[in-house]
Amino acid sequence: MNSDNHIRDVVVVGAGIVGSAIARVLGGTGLSVTLVEGRDDVGDGTSKANTALLHTGFDATPGTLESRLVARGYHLLGAYAEEVGIPVERTGALLVAWTDEERDALPGLADKAARNGYHACEIVAGDEVYRRVPDLGPGALAGLTVPGESIICTWTTNLALATDAVRRGVELRRGQRVTDVVVGPDHTTVVTTAGRIETRWVINAAGLGADHLDAAFGYHRFTVTPRRGELLVFDKLTRPMVPCIVLAVPSSRGKGVLISPTIYGNVMVGPTSENLTDRTATGTSEEGLEFLIGKGRALMPTLFDEEVTATYAGLRAAADRDDYLIDVDAAQRYVLVGGIRSTGLTSGMAVAEHLSGLLADTDLDLTPRADLPPAPRMPNIGEATTRPYQDAQRIAEDPEYGRIVCFCERVTAGELRDAFGSVIPPRDLDGLRRRTRVMNGRCQGFYCGAHTAALLEAAR
Ligand SMILES: Cc1cc2nc3c(=O)[nH]c(=O)nc-3n(C[C@H](O)[C@H](O)[C@H](O)COP(=O)(O)OP(=O)(O)OC[C@H]3O[C@@H](n4cnc5c(N)ncnc54)[C@H](O)[C@@H]3O)c2cc1C
Repeated sequence: MNSDNHIRDVVVVGAGIVGSAIARVLGGTGLSVTLVEGRDDVGDGTSKANTALLHTGFDATPGTLESRLVARGYHLLGAYAEEVGIPVERTGALLVAWTDEERDALPGLADKAARNGYHACEIVAGDEVYRRVPDLGPGALAGLTVPGESIICTWTTNLALATDAVRRGVELRRGQRVTDVVVGPDHTTVVTTAGRIETRWVINAAGLGADHLDAAFGYHRFTVTPRRGELLVFDKLTRPMVPCIVLAVPSSRGKGVLISPTIYGNVMVGPTSENLTDRTATGTSEEGLEFLIGKGRALMPTLFDEEVTATYAGLRAAADRDDYLIDVDAAQRYVLVGGIRSTGLTSGMAVAEHLSGLLADTDLDLTPRADLPPAPRMPNIGEATTRPYQDAQRIAEDPEYGRIVCFCERVTAGELRDAFGSVIPPRDLDGLRRRTRVMNGRCQGFYCGAHTAALLEAAR
């Protein structure tokens, strides 16, 4: 759109789900767009470590921007997942009341869901709760069904959005942290750890780093607090015990601990909720583990007779306000997309849509391109549909799909090869794990780690 080839139209900072969704939408126009990510991979921040629920938005605060964008994102991402092959399972959720007080709260929660435009909730008695989830511990009094809540692959979601963006012509720069900006009269210089980028507009989708970048534009309007959520992952043998997502009745202390099936065929319990100061503290803690074992054992005692195969933690970018903070500063040609705390996996595509509505009033020309490439088709790493090792015809056509590298997760040499040759290839083992599930099983790479590392090295 602009006549100077050195100056991009838009730089999007942060290639998590939100930044990737924004870059994808802008890539569908004639604008020149660069997506800059400080880490070595897309989706290596909060977007890689969450509870991976596709939320209906039934429990959001009615009337907020978050409530509107989660409800919209639920439909947008649900449809996109089908189009590009992001694994989703429509398991539904059951919110369980364990005390009289919690039981009394259920009608209010159903009413809140209706005020959020979600009308499918139903209050059920204790016997129906046990019919739906027989392995729950004793003492459940009643429940609220949320049939639309679903589980989704957060890794494939992020990768699909970023891949789509790159295929649409977005320039992706990984491993380049933005350290400063210099705002000039016609364009801004974005200073990164790997040089400078000249751009007309900057969109800040930096998650945990969004307040720092905001300050570089002269603002002091919010502070990000990293709110750690730790989770336990159980062995695949436990999956039949958890046919749907089991939620707690929310309290003033938060949403509580949930038990959920995962898209990879496991069960997870969590998350904790703990405000920290260190924005890099994604390690798990002994206290978190103790807390989850205590809570989880009360919810489903028999689950805790089974093996925990992994623990992980993610950091919510909690802001000192109760809603998303999306703001366009036309004078500085700058957009803040902040405060996307605990629902951004679901809402990311709706945030991008909302933002393009706001940008329509600026000097950016958002006319859709006529020559859009088709959306990508992502490799399936979900457990509910056929994986390459199960596909006899595919193996007959290409025996690499029959050559298993990771026996825990049944990941084949063909899938690793495809990841190495993909639009956004992995740069490290963790990136390869997010693309294929390799080393993600109960041995955590003990058996396949060395071989996988050698394959990655050879592909470089
Ligand atoms: C425990 C937990 C459970 C959750 N559960 C759910 C759920 O079930 N459903 C749901 O919808 N949401 C959930 N969420 C929320 C969801 O994960 C986040 O809202 C979403 O991932 C935020 O995406 P993002 O793109 O804003 O941030 P991120 O994924 O963190 O992306 C921001 C990116 O910006 C990069 N960056 C930062 N600073 C700079 C810089 N200066 N220069 C360059 N790059 C930079 C970072 O490296 C990062 O990759 C959960 C979150 C947590 C922690």
